[in-house]
Amino acid sequence: MNRVRCLVLNAALGPLDYRVPEGMAVEAGSVVECPLGPRTVIGIIWEAERLPGAEVPAEKLRPLRGILPVPPLPAPLRRLMEWTADYYVAPLASVARMALSSGGALRGPATMIEYRLTGGMPERMTPQRQAAMEALEHEQATIRELAGIAGVSEGVLRGLVNQGVLEPVEVDCDRPYDRALPDFARITLNPDQEGAAELFRAAVRARAFAPFLLDGVTGSGKTETYFEPMAEAIRDGRQVLVLLPEIALTEAFLARFAARFGTAPVLWHSSLKSTERRRAWRSIACGDAQVVVGARSALFLPFPRLGLIVIDEAHEVSFKQDDGVRYNARDVAVMRAHFEHVPVILASATPALESLAMAENGTYAKIDLPSRYGAAELPAIRTIDLTQEKPGRGAWLAEPLVAALEERLDRGEQSLLFLNRRGYAPLTLCRNCGFRFQCPNCSAWLVEHRFSQRLACHHCGHETPPPATCPECGEPDCLVACGPGVERIADEVAELLPDARTFVATSDTLNSPGRAAEFVAMVEGGAVDIIIGTQLVTKGFHFPDLTLVGVVDADLGLEGGDLRAAERTYQQIAQVAGRAGRGDKPGEVLLQTRHPDAPVIAALADGDREAFYEAETDARRFAGAPPFGRWAAIIVSSEEEDEARDAAQRIGRARPDMEELAIYGPAPAPLSLLRGRYRYRLLINARRSAQLQDIIRQWLGALDHPAGVRVAVDIDPYSF
Ligand code: ADP
Ligand code: ZN
Repeated sequence: MNRVRCLVLNAALGPLDYRVPEGMAVEAGSVVECPLGPRTVIGIIWEAERLPGAEVPAEKLRPLRGILPVPPLPAPLRRLMEWTADYYVAPLASVARMALSSGGALRGPATMIEYRLTGGMPERMTPQRQAAMEALEHEQATIRELAGIAGVSEGVLRGLVNQGVLEPVEVDCDRPYDRALPDFARITLNPDQEGAAELFRAAVRARAFAPFLLDGVTGSGKTETYFEPMAEAIRDGRQVLVLLPEIALTEAFLARFAARFGTAPVLWHSSLKSTERRRAWRSIACGDAQVVVGARSALFLPFPRLGLIVIDEAHEVSFKQDDGVRYNARDVAVMRAHFEHVPVILASATPALESLAMAENGTYAKIDLPSRYGAAELPAIRTIDLTQEKPGRGAWLAEPLVAALEERLDRGEQSLLFLNRRGYAPLTLCRNCGFRFQCPNCSAWLVEHRFSQRLACHHCGHETPPPATCPECGEPDCLVACGPGVERIADEVAELLPDARTFVATSDTLNSPGRAAEFVAMVEGGAVDIIIGTQLVTKGFHFPDLTLVGVVDADLGLEGGDLRAAERTYQQIAQVAGRAGRGDKPGEVLLQTRHPDAPVIAALADGDREAFYEAETDARRFAGAPPFGRWAAIIVSSEEEDEARDAAQRIGRARPDMEELAIYGPAPAPLSLLRGRYRYRLLINARRSAQLQDIIRQWLGALDHPAGVRVAVDIDPYSF
């Protein structure tokens, strides 16, 4: 064999043919260096045999330049990449780039140099050096990473290296991980759990594709249950992938994992240091890593011996990627299991309607854990009708909720106030002229963060200090905050219950695994009375002394009016309610609402999940929405508004006229300006029978646009 077809990562081209030079041993999946024009780029050998249509004679092909010393990407992963590109209407090269985004892991050597403080002092102290040295206490990372952590230039740090203040440390990225012990601390499952675990274990032994929906109420012991098939896969020398929706959750998970398996799993998420990333990648690729706990990107890691995939909180919105290749990790995970011939377990207390439909039609095996583990009961849920409440002591917390918080304080129990809004107030305006602070890059208001003294855009990261005078009318001290965010709720709690020790838990405060661990330790150690948090605290945490959950605004999620608003609200509130009463003390949940009769709120208060799913199913059937029909979005963006609109209209005019499709738009997208790009959108509603992706490919493939225009396809979109 002397010619191969390569998928070249940098090119939007299809696979290209190359000649294999004498003496180079390659196979399908090998990662190679290919000449492309004047450059050398990374490629993956996609086909090594039976090349169709070899028009160019082999001697005329350019030769491969080299082969990287990593194991070839396994065939099931390559099939998954093809499926992903096909299903999500994305270029295969983009999928491959995403799969190999850990590029450093590929090319780099097995050792890397990190730096840490020696304890020595520089000859001349400067404010920058001082700041860097303070920031880098307990840190060890590459110069580039340290510069990011300390907020100084790499030059400042090199200066410190030269002065002996920072010293190099060689890190071996092939250092093996401790072995997970499948029988380290086996626990006795209750009969429901045991029945489920045995099915899962048998599926692991069978080494065949088997999708499961593990549907168990919060606190039913789903984690302990899926630990058993994980142990089975480890015994069998196979690898396990566990996907979690949020890195803040990993800490709690890791503690439980270590208690059961005697060591930590291998982690994979975007905030890993480059040495950790390289070590993890290499260990996974050579088959050593036994259990990998990761974010959605872990789905594209090159496991050679996968034995099981678990997705915890499988209904979570964060499994959907919203830029680049817009895939849903839940669905891609099922496809990976399919190509790998292994079982996959979707665990959730509030499965997506789509997943329930798959269980109903027999595609997924549904396993139920109907009651909480042990003596714990599901909490009672009550609504507080804000339209009926008389004004009380608080502006945002109604009297019954304040009273319930006081009661918990008196009893030494913990409470959680849930409001899915970071910062102090979602909108800031001028009292004098009504000026509203808007992001210059996005069609979104700037959110006041009072603790950190800034106005911030939650979409692009734009920040500005709150000005002393209104930028519009010049009036001093005129800014008013409108509406509450978690920080404002914390202020109110401090006013009403001055003795309560509060913790504001959001992605601003729990922004690293270390911070999340501190938070968990504080709550478990009884150092916190009232947690005030966003969706970050709705799931995964198990605090036995937490007996009250207050939902500050149960209607908030229903405002967006998008297709999944009701389902998301149901899931979020059911999840956060699930944090209450997990120990032996009963839990109570209070929902502040202006619409106590809305079907979602009523179903939550009645504890009637079926009622909610039935109402939602009817609504979806009526709308031709998933699982009955399908949606797709086409998002056209450009830095020039005219260009985006023109391109969207061109696409609109070329729309296919088919009975099985309804096409809406183009219209400005809900965030019509995002990170400096103007966005227009078309929505497609299709019957299940339609060849949706083929139709979209043909439709868009026939059109050309100016270079500044980007056209993205979102199959099964979440937010629109
Ligand atoms: P879920 O993931 O379904 O919300 P968890 O797996 O977190 O539930 O279990 C809830 C609590 O019950 C945890 O503290 C867990 O350790 C405990 N638990 C579950 N199953 C068992 C068991 N078989 N033996 C002892 N403790 C258990
Ligand atoms: Zn912005």
